[in-house]
Amino acid sequence: MAANSAVPAKMKAWVYREHGDVATVLRLDSELEVPEVQEGQVLVKVLAAALNPVDTKRVNGVVQLPGSALPAVPGYDLAGIVVKVGREVKDLKVGDQVYGFMLNAKKDGTLAEYAAGEEAFLALKPKKLSFEEAASLPAVFHTAYGGLERAGLSRGKSVLVLGGAGGVGTITIQLAKEVFGASRVAATSSTGKLDLLKSLGADLAIDYTKVNFEDLPEKFDVVYDTVGQSARAVKAVKPEGSVVEIVELDKELPPPAFSFRATSDRWTLEKVKPLLESGKVKPVIDPKSPFSFAQVIEAFSYLQTRRATGKVVIHPV
Ligand code: NDP
Repeated sequence: MAANSAVPAKMKAWVYREHGDVATVLRLDSELEVPEVQEGQVLVKVLAAALNPVDTKRVNGVVQLPGSALPAVPGYDLAGIVVKVGREVKDLKVGDQVYGFMLNAKKDGTLAEYAAGEEAFLALKPKKLSFEEAASLPAVFHTAYGGLERAGLSRGKSVLVLGGAGGVGTITIQLAKEVFGASRVAATSSTGKLDLLKSLGADLAIDYTKVNFEDLPEKFDVVYDTVGQSARAVKAVKPEGSVVEIVELDKELPPPAFSFRATSDRWTLEKVKPLLESGKVKPVIDPKSPFSFAQVIEAFSYLQTRRATGKVVIHPV
């Protein structure tokens, strides 16, 4: 293992030692041990991180993954610099600027000064993006890309994105147009966010405070549900279409809805890199972001309002 004398033994990290409300159980610890890297892992100096609703669910104890244990550091998304590599790491080296969705972060998450994770989950950061912008992307990218792929979206088809202004929705709209070649993209949001949906490429922005999307005469090849509205979503899909459900994962879904859980890999990030470098696909960061590392509790309570526009990002770490 390549040792690096600049890596300290202890670090600052947000830690929960029991499940409960984020504001009650999450504490900043200044003396946490920097994680060891396993053979196929790298250690990243985290420069920016992003929050996802699953982080809250894990702190609350609503979601408990196999292999997770307490105490734990929350967080899956990061952007930063590789400071140490495990013996079997092949592609990354110390000094690389990387970003990724650290899916194996069951205990040592990314809301920390250092995070260890599989090389396979990390890609080189596009030069055009800041660390803050890069950290905002990986989890929602994998969720949007994987869900649209599983739904069979392809050139010339139409898609309706429920929750178009959120972290997942803002990227799903863009990927539907720029990567999958959808001929028509519709999306829902409240009144004040309709212009944002259009700026991201939506042909039809539906104000859910005024219109029930399932009552529209137009039906879609794919409905991508980021809100948890599967029963309504299946009424908006064409007979041969499909409904991607990413919220209601543990209940029986009405056909043709199927549940989708994001995975992580470098190649999806590499595939979309040219679109990020050219600016055709853009990160969407909530106007209240970035929150500083000291403001993680405030960032979580804002995310929990379910009113964030795009991503809630923590920077600098
Ligand atoms: P966000 O917190 O970013 O979503 C906030 C957005 O949701 C706001 O902009 C809000 O817009 C919009 N919203 C809230 N209610 C409605 C509504 N009734 N109709 C339309 N828009 C609405 O969440 P994410 O996008 O990050 O995640 C969405 C869900 O997906 C979460 O439950 C999350 O846990 C899940 N998820 C699942 C994954 C998986 O692998 N299965 C992966 C990632 C996320 P407005 O203010 O206009 O209402």
